[in-house]
Amino acid sequence: MMSVGLGELLILFGVCAITLVPIALVLLLVRGTNRQTKMGINLEPPKACPRCGEPLPMIRAPKSFKQAMWGGWTCSKCNTELDKWGRVIS
Ligand SMILES: [Zn+2]
Repeated sequence: MMSVGLGELLILFGVCAITLVPIALVLLLVRGTNRQTKMGINLEPPKACPRCGEPLPMIRAPKSFKQAMWGGWTCSKCNTELDKWGRVIS
């Protein structure tokens, strides 16, 4: 009969959590990329504003905290806000 103390259970639980958290994060990123949510990674950024055709700058200068966190552009010509997938944010 094996006896497991509460300390061992806690350590076991901790090890599981440390292992599962990065896996969960990677899954979230992959899912976000497939579904084009803000959690995804866009390797092919949009080249021009979908509303006026103004070329978007290669080097992104975030105009807000949200853009710094999740990517996206504000068109310098028509002020349209785009997400990182090049979609217009209304
Ligand atoms: Zn524009």
